[in-house]
Amino acid sequence: MRPLDATELLHVWEHGLNQPPLQQALILIAAACPELDPGAVTKLSIGVRDARLLQLREWMFGSLLLNTAQCPQCGERVEWEGRTTDLRRQAIDDVDFAEKSRLEVDGYQLHFRLPDSTDIAAVMASDQSEGNADATVLIKRCVISADYKGKTCDLAKLPEHALDALSQKIEDLDPLAEIRTGLTCPECSHQWDVLFDITCFLWVEINNWAECMLRTIHRLASAYGWTESEILNLGPVRRQLYLGMVNR
Ligand SMILES: [Zn+2]
Repeated sequence: MRPLDATELLHVWEHGLNQPPLQQALILIAAACPELDPGAVTKLSIGVRDARLLQLREWMFGSLLLNTAQCPQCGERVEWEGRTTDLRRQAIDDVDFAEKSRLEVDGYQLHFRLPDSTDIAAVMASDQSEGNADATVLIKRCVISADYKGKTCDLAKLPEHALDALSQKIEDLDPLAEIRTGLTCPECSHQWDVLFDITCFLWVEINNWAECMLRTIHRLASAYGWTESEILNLGPVRRQLYLGMVNR
């Protein structure tokens, strides 16, 4: 994986415009990871994928994450901050996963893999067609084989407690798949966990960056007659300095 330059980022933004967040995440990673073929990008576990997005965000806009949430009790807007560097420390090494992909619970032996983007897409598609969300659909998709006391067990017959144990195991193995932050409301002292979605957060920033960049290109092109690629190749410092001169 490598950082994207301004030309590449603008191309990624244009390609991902009006796409669902899942596609935007995959487009970003595919652009930054030319060593992975598109199939391999979709097969990254959600936590590994999001660790890569956090790394990209750090390269693009720095480590500090400033965010807001609404208190579910009194409605107060609460600001919170985190660091990509702290979150990325929880990331797993996906190479090691094969050895950890077995779970034994009450006589059930489960061989499983971690959820990836293809699973998320499938669950979203089934939710839309059936109109009801089934939390166990995702977990069941990740079971490669299930045995009970040495005999193959039908997935539909797996008891709820075995699926719950597997869900917990997957959460422990891939902690970045669901990034949560504990918050306390300064108004009413209510405490709760908020989910942090790096894809949506980063895409808002990229969108803002792209709109600002297009305005800069328009100004500099109008003032100096440079082409879009010439302006993008200037680098951020020189672009800002020229923009300052034009705006003076
Ligand atoms: Zn509150």
